[in-house]
Amino acid sequence: MMAPQKRPAEEAESLLVGVRSLLLDIEGTTTPISFVEKTLFPYVTNNIESYLNKNFENADVQKAIAALRDQAAKEKDEKVEGVVEIPSGDASKEDVIKAVIDNVKWQMGENRKTTELKALQGLIWKEAFESSEIKGELFEDVGPMLKMLAEEGFKLYVFSSASIQSQKLLFSYSNQGDLSDVFSGYFDTTTGSKRDKASYKKIATEIGHEPKDILFLTDIPEEAEAAVGAGLRSALVIRPGNEELTDENLQNFACIERFDELYGDEDEEDDIKRFAGGNGEADDDDEEEEEGDEDEEEEEEGDDA
Ligand SMILES: [Mg+2]
Repeated sequence: MMAPQKRPAEEAESLLVGVRSLLLDIEGTTTPISFVEKTLFPYVTNNIESYLNKNFENADVQKAIAALRDQAAKEKDEKVEGVVEIPSGDASKEDVIKAVIDNVKWQMGENRKTTELKALQGLIWKEAFESSEIKGELFEDVGPMLKMLAEEGFKLYVFSSASIQSQKLLFSYSNQGDLSDVFSGYFDTTTGSKRDKASYKKIATEIGHEPKDILFLTDIPEEAEAAVGAGLRSALVIRPGNEELTDENLQNFACIERFDELYGDEDEEDDIKRFAGGNGEADDDDEEEEEGDEDEEEEEEGDDA
């Protein structure tokens, strides 16, 4: 693999001018979207039975099962269609395991991302990563660039709908080695929705940097809009397998295909049009005082909540 070449962040076209921290999405940004569909989800479906049989007495597993049981009981009351109930702890191990498997397969079939589901999935993945049965898949530029950015003093954070535990596993046991050292913190949807600007305000507060000093990288325009609505900068990441961006997206946001392009695009002639948007650029100093107005302006653009 080619080592990334250091380039000064002061270059005019760099997206890093004035940036102190980067906030990264995972799926479609650092990692192919297919990794979840083709590796992580099938692993759960194929291994849940043996995992539960082997680890049934484990306290974390019992806690995850109890959470699924409570969730199902609550949803039964709410008349959620198709909900699979889980018998109480005095039922036989076989009956409980069978119901948990049916519940998990039902939720996954419905493409649900509930906290209760993710807790058990997370335990199964933990064992898979730790035993090297699964390695976190990263696009080839990701590892070298994240190491370089961290070395240069940028603070790196993750914001993903994957649980914080799964985020740590993916980067600790990645196909490019252990990258856990490069990150200063992890955020998941317990902070809030990725399409809600309040989440990004919270994250900025926790990071301790001004929103305008944080650059959020994602493949999803609605998430980028929410981040910009909170005063962060954002750039869209175009990766193989991602959904195609509209012309409007390309105009509204800086777009990159590789993380090295954060330093500026060497192939300006071809790609300059992709940097035509203003949202990913550094704010002028005199615009800062108008921060109070930004909320109103953003709301006109869409009510994505
Ligand atoms: Mg994504």
